[in-house]
Amino acid sequence: MSVALILAAKGHDVTTTQPHRTLQEAAAVLAERGIGAVIVTGGNSEVLGILSERDIVRAIGRHGAGALQDPVSKYMTSKVVTTQMDEAIDQVMELMTAGRFRHLPVIHNGRLAGVVSIGDVVKHRLDAMDAEHRAMREYIASA
Ligand code: AMP
Repeated sequence: MSVALILAAKGHDVTTTQPHRTLQEAAAVLAERGIGAVIVTGGNSEVLGILSERDIVRAIGRHGAGALQDPVSKYMTSKVVTTQMDEAIDQVMELMTAGRFRHLPVIHNGRLAGVVSIGDVVKHRLDAMDAEHRAMREYIASA
């Protein structure tokens, strides 16, 4: 079971922002799309960072509401851990647990190809467990 399977189900859309945008603008995008993080990209669509709702809360907690007028670049995480299409989902869970984050951008052929969130992983695991239980019940019923 790989990342490609999750992206096949959820799609390859990636919500991005730019480093000069304000936290306020980024927060509006998160609220509008109902997501928890945006990928920060540069002029050539290269990944420069990631900004999650946690970064925004931390910025406001430390600097007050004025932080909302600061640029995204000030609070984003620049060292972004990414994954690939053929990465196993168990490995994705390990990366998220070890790194204490809930979002993983997917890079394919050097370009952003999607984002996997912890919610996607949990949904995938629940679906897999459900399928296993159903197969087991059918097997028992037919014995
Ligand atoms: P999250 O749990 O995704 O809301 O993020 C928690 C913290 O980890 C925030 O400071 C994010 O900027 C950072 N973060 C989220 N995803 C990643 C990632 N893939 N690589 C590195 N840092 C990340």
